[in-house]
Amino acid sequence: MSINVEPLRKILELERNKGYSDSAVIGGLDKFLRRWSGQAIESIANPQLLNRFHRLVNSSYASLTRQQRQEWVAAVLNFLVEVEHREGEKGEAKLTPVVSRPPSGIKVQRTAVNQSIESSITSIKGISSSLATKFNKLGVKTVRDLLYFFPRRHLDYSQTKSISQLSEGEEQTIIANVWQAQITMLGGRRGTEAIVGDETGNVRVVWFNQPYLAKKLPTNTRIVLSGRVSLFHSRHVFESPEWELAEDKELIHTGRLVPLYPLTQGLRPRLVRKLMKGVIDQWACQLEDFLPPELKERCNLLELAQAITQAHYPEDEALKDRARVRLAFDELLLLQLGVLSKKRDWQESQPGNSFDTKTTVLDTFLKSLPFELTAAQQKVLRELLADLQKPRPMSRLLQGEVGSGKTVVAMAALLTATANGYQGAFMAPTEILAEQHFTTISELLSRVSPQEDGGYLRSYPGLLPHPLTVALLIGDISQARKQELHQRISEGDIDIVIGTHALIQEEVEFYRLGLVVVDEQHRFGVTQRAALRQKSFNPHVLVMTATPIPRTLALTLYGDLDLSVIDQLPPGRQVVRTKWLKPVQRESAYAFIHRQVADGRQAFIICPFVEESEVIAAKAAVAEYEHLSREVFPELRLGLLHGRMSAVEKDKVMRRFRSGELDILVSTPVVEVGIDVPNATVMLVESADRFGLSQLHQFRGRVGRGQEQSYCMFLAENPSEVGRERLDIIERIQDGFELAEEDLRLRGPGEFFGTRQSGLPDLRMAKLSDVPLLELARSEAIRLFENDPNLEEPEHSLLAKELARVWPEAGEWS
Ligand code: ADP
Ligand code: MG
Repeated sequence: MSINVEPLRKILELERNKGYSDSAVIGGLDKFLRRWSGQAIESIANPQLLNRFHRLVNSSYASLTRQQRQEWVAAVLNFLVEVEHREGEKGEAKLTPVVSRPPSGIKVQRTAVNQSIESSITSIKGISSSLATKFNKLGVKTVRDLLYFFPRRHLDYSQTKSISQLSEGEEQTIIANVWQAQITMLGGRRGTEAIVGDETGNVRVVWFNQPYLAKKLPTNTRIVLSGRVSLFHSRHVFESPEWELAEDKELIHTGRLVPLYPLTQGLRPRLVRKLMKGVIDQWACQLEDFLPPELKERCNLLELAQAITQAHYPEDEALKDRARVRLAFDELLLLQLGVLSKKRDWQESQPGNSFDTKTTVLDTFLKSLPFELTAAQQKVLRELLADLQKPRPMSRLLQGEVGSGKTVVAMAALLTATANGYQGAFMAPTEILAEQHFTTISELLSRVSPQEDGGYLRSYPGLLPHPLTVALLIGDISQARKQELHQRISEGDIDIVIGTHALIQEEVEFYRLGLVVVDEQHRFGVTQRAALRQKSFNPHVLVMTATPIPRTLALTLYGDLDLSVIDQLPPGRQVVRTKWLKPVQRESAYAFIHRQVADGRQAFIICPFVEESEVIAAKAAVAEYEHLSREVFPELRLGLLHGRMSAVEKDKVMRRFRSGELDILVSTPVVEVGIDVPNATVMLVESADRFGLSQLHQFRGRVGRGQEQSYCMFLAENPSEVGRERLDIIERIQDGFELAEEDLRLRGPGEFFGTRQSGLPDLRMAKLSDVPLLELARSEAIRLFENDPNLEEPEHSLLAKELARVWPEAGEWS
């Protein structure tokens, strides 16, 4: 057995440099020596040496004079040289730990043939089925999933310092020897305390709640510590740093950019890091790089295996960034190729219906409007009509701020379809919004033609050769009535059908569907649009959204759609004064509502957000409504709206509010009160911190529609940091476009666009704020698509395979 003399030598040298003041080790040299010698004695085999050693260490250093100390230190140092010499003679390897750097290349290691990248993670050594269950919770099932299981971020522990260079507060790494480690009480609980040192000094280390570490760190162990240093009694101390043995082959917890993985109960960071390292070393090189080499070269992208390796255990920041770029590029390119193919399928596989767009119906309708279309509305209408004229189906996204007047434009397009003998469908995300559209459209039409019938089916004579019929088709109308509507729709007896997205999912058969308008696109994904085709319609499609997003982004995510923007509000719209209120200000908010109502205005109150279910939300809303009616606004007329009411009830309440019979409308957030009441000037939102920015903006968009100054008050009990940030932003920013960008920044793309629900592949690495990369991926996708639209060339076969894997329903890949 050999003895590691290094720590003692270093400490003695330090003691010499410090002028023999017994300050090299915290706690004094004697205490340290006792520990060190206990271990050393066992390893000194030579009896002579052992004897000398006993004599040397039996004196008490603390009690020696300065002169005696100097002699003693010199003697021990000499002794150590001798020990080393003897040990060397015996031919035993000396323990001199070396900290290894991660190798820059990728290890190539072939695995057993029966394992593949698509194998379950249980095929990996060290992953039991119970551990696999934990990974499954994080969406990780196969070896491939693990390779793509990226760290949330990295800790930069790459700055190695000597102990004397340590400074407070920063994340730093040291390589040191353990002088002593013991279990100790820390804040009333058992933990580990250690003194470690290098040639420049010593430092105290504490680990809370980890008494078992003391055993793992015997004196003289050479370790690497990474973490933050704080001051305790004006001395530096490492608090719960990451640690690992310096002898370990390659550092994974310290001394480098250390990955922090998403964790779940029972997945410990050290375990995950160790597993991941093994998996990457073994498997990364077995991923097939599906990008054509010339593309990689042109775009200066890393090889796939290298990108995966560097994304987990990067050598440095620069490589980490390049890895992210490569992987993000992959996601964006595949997304683009998928949407481009959809667009092609949509437009080219079947001919569309070419409409005559100069119709008297349209003229009459436009002339009858109580306002002039804004320039932006006119431009967009021209774009729509140009599409409708072509013999291929339109697929267009219309973006426009809340209140920018999208409905009127959509209506003009629907009328054009009916004038050409086709039916139109108008789909909204909720029943209330569908009803709202039905009401708006009915009102607009009744300006040109006296309305016949009432209820859910209205007809307007004089516009078309036959009376124009408009129907509302929603969940709670009676079964018999529904059947009748279905029947009449399939016979072509109804021209325009308004409903929810269920319109296309249910068994509604259209006679001659020519145009589908979809409101609020971010809940109407690619898959739903594809459903239209499966019903063997090939209608023109107009998708509308009040969540404006940057152009490049729109083209990336909705690359299968052409883009139109209404970038202008109708004249006279005012800025809604927005304020974020603390709970103590609730009373003054109520007082403010009182004053506004006294002035003849109306108000919305959005009930506190309840997560559990719609039933519970409805109950909470009833309670809130009763409280407000009795305690707060006893003399005012209040109405209640929640998701569990029947359509008829909801409609009744909305009508009363709209006609001024109610002063205050209390509503659950689910219904989003997508209604248009110009006389409403106050919006009060409870638990406002729980909503996303675009939803808050939608709420705010309900007021400020008339001539009067309007106000929006957001109440937040105890907002989180993100919640507070959102409220600050909504207070400051009125512009929906700017807000959408902020929302995207705060929420990340997946949640923002609901890519999961919408059938788009996941974006993990791609930051949608990275416009240059978006543009690069888009231009490369278009290039590929132009040269080899079905990816049939041999150099594209891997790419075709990958595309089919990430986006199976996207198209016919060779
Ligand atoms: P959104 O784009 O949010 O769907 P709407 O279509 O509901 O907006 O329009 C909001 C309100 O503005 C409606 O009351 C509508 O009648 C009105 N409006 C639409 N266009 C104009 C215009 N050009 N001038 C004045 N008011 C308009
Ligand atoms: Mg709208």
